[in-house]
Amino acid sequence: MNRITIAIDGYSSCGKSTLAKQLAKKLGYSYIDSGAMYRAVALWCIENNVIENGVTDKNKLISNLDNINIEFRFHPEIQASQTYLNGRNIEREIRGMAVSEIVSKISSIKEVRQKMVALQRKFGEDKGVVMDGRDIGSVVFPNAELKLFMTAEPLIRAKRRYDELKAKDTEVSLEEIKENLRLRDYEDTTRKENPLVQAADAVVLDNTNYTTEEQFDVAWELAKARL
Ligand code: C5P
Repeated sequence: MNRITIAIDGYSSCGKSTLAKQLAKKLGYSYIDSGAMYRAVALWCIENNVIENGVTDKNKLISNLDNINIEFRFHPEIQASQTYLNGRNIEREIRGMAVSEIVSKISSIKEVRQKMVALQRKFGEDKGVVMDGRDIGSVVFPNAELKLFMTAEPLIRAKRRYDELKAKDTEVSLEEIKENLRLRDYEDTTRKENPLVQAADAVVLDNTNYTTEEQFDVAWELAKARL
């Protein structure tokens, strides 16, 4: 069977990663969470005082980009990849609100995006990859065989993210999440560098009323047709 590239883009907390992991597992492909890469850079910024009083020291970040090493390592015991920053497992830290609150500012910086896009293309150079993010179908893999653009009603998205964070004992309110999603969607769709856009050849998948199984069935039919 042909190995293909599957690009999944869409708004924050639309279930992109759930679907991407299901597809990767079914196909025996690797799954790359491109958002985790921007989150890793944001964590590095927090830990290295790049953002103080809401002001980003862009020069410091840009001059240190070569010192920010991001990898994914597969953990057989949980059958999943986790994100590493300079050799340290940061999977839990990057999901918290401190990172969520600044990540869209950091991801709007041109030099950061150039480095991440180059790394993402390298991860996907042999095909057989499912990658989710904001610019995967439009910029990273414009020739991907299958492009999905995911969307869902804002309140449903906020509730899903709230349940996910609560399950991990994160202190957060539904209001905070709603506001964070609203702001990130705004920043991600209006930034100058590679904003979130629906690629012309992407298939829209609105999963407001779908279970994860139903969403998978729709995507799987689309994938099979392209294999
Ligand atoms: O997917 P996730 O919500 O974890 O992404 C976190 C943030 O990373 C997004 O809000 C966006 O600012 C940025 N991002 C991006 N391009 C991607 C993936 C994520 O700008 N391909």
